[in-house]
Amino acid sequence: MRIGIPVETRPGETRVAATPETVKKLAAKHQVVVQSGAGMPASVTDDAYAAAGAQIVGMAEAYAADVVLKVRAPNADERGLMKAGTVVIGMLNPFDSANIAAMAAAGLQAFALEAVPRITRAQSMDVLSSQANIAGYKAVMMAANTYQRFMPMLMTAAGTVKAARVLIMGVGVAGLQAIATAKRLGAVIEASDVRPPVKEQVESLGAKFIDVPFLTEEEKEIAKGVGGYARPMPADWMRRQAELVHERAKLADIIITTALIPGRPAPTLISEETVKAMKPGSVIVDLAVSQGGNCPLSELGKTVVKHGVYIVGEPDLATLVAADASALYARNVLDFLKLIIDKEDKLVIDREDEIIKATLVCAGGDVLRK
Ligand code: NAD
Repeated sequence: MRIGIPVETRPGETRVAATPETVKKLAAKHQVVVQSGAGMPASVTDDAYAAAGAQIVGMAEAYAADVVLKVRAPNADERGLMKAGTVVIGMLNPFDSANIAAMAAAGLQAFALEAVPRITRAQSMDVLSSQANIAGYKAVMMAANTYQRFMPMLMTAAGTVKAARVLIMGVGVAGLQAIATAKRLGAVIEASDVRPPVKEQVESLGAKFIDVPFLTEEEKEIAKGVGGYARPMPADWMRRQAELVHERAKLADIIITTALIPGRPAPTLISEETVKAMKPGSVIVDLAVSQGGNCPLSELGKTVVKHGVYIVGEPDLATLVAADASALYARNVLDFLKLIIDKEDKLVIDREDEIIKATLVCAGGDVLRK
């Protein structure tokens, strides 16, 4: 079988879908073609891919494959280079129906890895987790870089410096890593989430959980989420959370927001009123900025100063850690490939498999995800 790894062309994308480590494993049984320069934004040279067993090729040849490994969805030009029936694997955005329709029209068999279900068997293929982990780490790095004070408490001959107070909003994979990273830097941390099991995880990392009690059975039920993901909370709970967050934000030096609800705009957690109440020189890093942001003042791709507060709206923070983000992503992709390649090294797509069902967005000209 022929497996292609093209250059990613989406602006700002630095990751690559295979690394020499994964190419070496694939090249033992398949023909692997890598477009020249595909790894360069992640500091992987053509020579490193060639040494791992890949053939370095031009763009058209990288797409002329049975399976094309991507980070982002192919654009119109890239779709045009693939023959009908080509398998495309990547973070193809299962909620982008126009793009899925276009891939279906091109006859592609496309797998959107963001839709991998949260079951034990699929953990090693979970790209949202592998990339969110990196984003959580980088968010703290960016906050520390923007913040004009120290993170740890310091006792010096010139006097004592207080530790930074960090507030993390949304404690999924990114939020947990943000807590752990800020803790290593010596910050004092508080965190909030809708899902009750998070409290214990927050406390086990040495942070304080901001409890917003559930007053009705309905609130309790919604907060459980579905499939590990949060659901939109009732307006009354959101109001009570906002009041509590407003008070905690006044004391915070850094706020990192990561709250997402799949397929919907991100919930507003830090209102303009709350930003106004924050200390000058405080920093907000809004990891949800691509989905509209957890703070209405965030601006996509920019760091802005509003009411004296720095608001970092950099999307896709994992792209700023390109080498490790690619390394983890490529392993996720390799594990996913094992699902569709049988013992005789042939492509077999079992439509009854739970992971295939969830991720296959189009095949045979049909859109399979509504
Ligand atoms: P996510 O990126 O979808 O959202 C980030 C966090 O924001 C979540 O914790 C969510 O509850 C929270 N959030 C949403 N609305 C909020 C609001 N109004 N206020 C405060 N917080 C809000 O989440 P994620 O990082 O993908 O992870 C969610 C959970 O799934 C985690 O507990 C994670 O450990 C778990 N998970 C399980 C598996 C598996 O079992 N295979 C794989 C990956 C993740």
